[in-house]
Amino acid sequence: MPEVVQYPKGGVFDSPEEDRTYRKQRLAAAFRLFSKFGFDEGVAGHITARDPERLDHFWVNPFAMHFGQIRASDLILVNHHGEVVEGGKPVNTAAFVIHSQIHAARPDVMAAAHSHSIYGKSWSAMGRLLDPITQDVCAFYEDHAVFDDYTGVVLDLEEGKRIAHALADNKAAILRNHGLLTVGHTVDEAAWWFITMERSCQAQLLAASAGTPVLIDPAMARTTAGQVGSHLAGWFSFQPLFDRIVREQPDLLD
Ligand SMILES: [Zn+2]
Repeated sequence: MPEVVQYPKGGVFDSPEEDRTYRKQRLAAAFRLFSKFGFDEGVAGHITARDPERLDHFWVNPFAMHFGQIRASDLILVNHHGEVVEGGKPVNTAAFVIHSQIHAARPDVMAAAHSHSIYGKSWSAMGRLLDPITQDVCAFYEDHAVFDDYTGVVLDLEEGKRIAHALADNKAAILRNHGLLTVGHTVDEAAWWFITMERSCQAQLLAASAGTPVLIDPAMARTTAGQVGSHLAGWFSFQPLFDRIVREQPDLLD
């Protein structure tokens, strides 16, 4: 079993290779967790990690490989032209079109996640932001956007640019009639925001079906956002999930 690369203090790695291995292992773990949570829908969905050296390249899942079977060594490296330069398996065009434009527009973003998870896409049909109805959803308070358009499967770079523009400097976007998109400074953070945002969509749908939810007032929602919505909080929240999935499915590290 390969050794797990731990997140070094301050995020400083001894070499780019060590950093790359770390990112790929976290990415493989994120896919296994997305599978466990049922976020897969056929061949839809992608999570990307920027390469530590070739900053306009990103690692992504091969097209049509199930999230639940992905190992670190299965990930493919895609350049800014959409060409697979490592891995030898095809890339989903939508993954390239959306993620390349987000990574280009947001130099701070190291990872981005998108899938057609059931509660995310259900809520996306409302075409509006999540309300501050729970402590957890405050992570997205004044920090998520709605891409208020739907124009079919995203296959055009211009469409990717429009999504990146709608995301702006937020940590997440709701793509209307489509699903959720989250970003982070680490794979861990982007994956955690996706998992918790999906559950927040579920919570809002449940609460709204039972009655009229009481909103957290704006000042308190803002304070709570500072507590649960930081980059570190997002990274930290992912750690128990990572430990659990590695214990359960150690082959993901291969
Ligand atoms: Zn999609």
